[in-house]
Amino acid sequence: MTQLTKDYNRILKSIWSDTSRSDLYNVWPEDAVKAVKALFKREFPGRSWPYKIKFTSGNRYTWVRRRAVFINCEKGWGDLVHDWSHWLNYLHGRENHCEAHLMLERDCAQYVLDRGWVKSEPAPVPAKKKTDRVVERYKRLLSNKAATEKRLAKHRAGLERAEKRLKDLDRDVRAYSRKYPERLEAFPK
Ligand SMILES: [Zn+2]
Repeated sequence: MTQLTKDYNRILKSIWSDTSRSDLYNVWPEDAVKAVKALFKREFPGRSWPYKIKFTSGNRYTWVRRRAVFINCEKGWGDLVHDWSHWLNYLHGRENHCEAHLMLERDCAQYVLDRGWVKSEPAPVPAKKKTDRVVERYKRLLSNKAATEKRLAKHRAGLERAEKRLKDLDRDVRAYSRKYPERLEAFPK
């Protein structure tokens, strides 16, 4: 193990060491969003935030793909900060796990701790919006109306076709009875 790797493990371990494992894995999505944005701004004060925010899960890294940052809250703050420091370090054009990266990651971790984003309370569950029965009923009325209009238009088209057909048949009937009056005299006109 190189000296730098030893430093790396020691410094990162010590910075998270006062935090319980359950707190470290208790990443509130809203805080994770604040964190990636704030840490980006810390490194690149002049640049405006360039990414869309998406969430990912499982074993995936927090990383940027196609102009969106995919944030993985499930792997805890340690991984989130590590992954994100990799991205910021990469934007600086530096090598992975170089000394500057070590300092960057340490500062990012400290920043996250200082802002109080690592905490024990569970993330608030967003309150489900109560549905308004009047709004629901109105939406049903509108869609019902649209469907009925569609049906009516279909029937109208069928009616027009039938009327036109009837006109043609009338004309043919008259033409026949004029042309063959004797042969058709037994039939009503
Ligand atoms: Zn790494």
